[in-house]
Amino acid sequence: MIDYLNQQEIKTDPATVFRIVNMFKEKELLQSIQLNERKIRYELSSKPYHHFVCEQCGAIQDISDFSIKAVEDEIQEKRHIKIKSHSLEFFGLCKDCQNKTN
Ligand SMILES: [Zn+2]
Repeated sequence: MIDYLNQQEIKTDPATVFRIVNMFKEKELLQSIQLNERKIRYELSSKPYHHFVCEQCGAIQDISDFSIKAVEDEIQEKRHIKIKSHSLEFFGLCKDCQNKTN
């Protein structure tokens, strides 16, 4: 991953990359695959994932515990389509940032 970022001339320090990868793993956005080699590979998790991103501090909150099944059902019924998967992102201000601006 670091090699890839270097190739793209994206300057970052490894600690930051690992911190972000670990956060994505904790949130089950990424899953690690260990093949018979010295490196660890990551792939995007297939689990439906809903999250909120704070536009000010970049904090990501998992909001998968809020069901959007009703919305999905409504879309399927009204549009006569079959939804197999989805991704949802909400953007705004987290609680801390709202308190800072007030
Ligand atoms: Zn924030």
